[in-house]
Amino acid sequence: SADTGAVCPWVTRFVERVRDSVEELTDLDRRAGDGDFGTNLAAALGHFAVPLRGSDHDVLHALSTSFLVRAGGTSGAVFGILFRELARAAGQSGDRTEYLRPGAARALAEIVELGGARVGDNTVVDALSPAVDALDDHLDLAAAADAATRGADSTRDRAAGKGRASYLGDATRGVVDPGALVIAWLFAAAADTP
Ligand code: ADP
Ligand code: MG
Ligand code: MG
Repeated sequence: SADTGAVCPWVTRFVERVRDSVEELTDLDRRAGDGDFGTNLAAALGHFAVPLRGSDHDVLHALSTSFLVRAGGTSGAVFGILFRELARAAGQSGDRTEYLRPGAARALAEIVELGGARVGDNTVVDALSPAVDALDDHLDLAAAADAATRGADSTRDRAAGKGRASYLGDATRGVVDPGALVIAWLFAAAADTP
């Protein structure tokens, strides 16, 4: 479970950032979606005691289960898959510089298979795909965080192609995709936490 043992600082940092940003995320989804993204993430992450404790595998697995069971919405499935694959990879190696690359690559493949989003559709794929490419090229978490941040920023200038935001057409121009933003925060937490 995620409540005994040593603190897992990097996932804790991510969870705290999301919890501090629920209103911002909801506002983005209100402008480019149906306004429930912050609520969905709070449902998944709100009940954990921080700091999170346990091995990276156990903590990531607990997040995965919580997203799949509690969050609902597209984000419940998408982030549930992501954390399930990160947990699976962390079970092979406890070192995030080693497990994030294969875990994120498998998650990306599954998310694309499930939802059919491509780079440019304004979804989590816009941040996750460049992060995986950066890890393949550089094996470096800072490069992955930069790539994910640039990918999330790129969603601001486009209209969405997938998800509920796509029903709103050009009204979503100027709005960062909140799912992509959260992916950028995940890699930033991985890169910036000792
Ligand atoms: P819902 O649309 O069910 O209200 P959420 O608000 O929980 O879903 O999540 C919205 C986020 O889901 C978006 O910001 C986007 O990043 C992501 N998303 C939407 N459709 C897809 C998809 N087909 N593939 C991957 N991510 C997607
Ligand atoms: Mg929504
Ligand atoms: Mg919804």
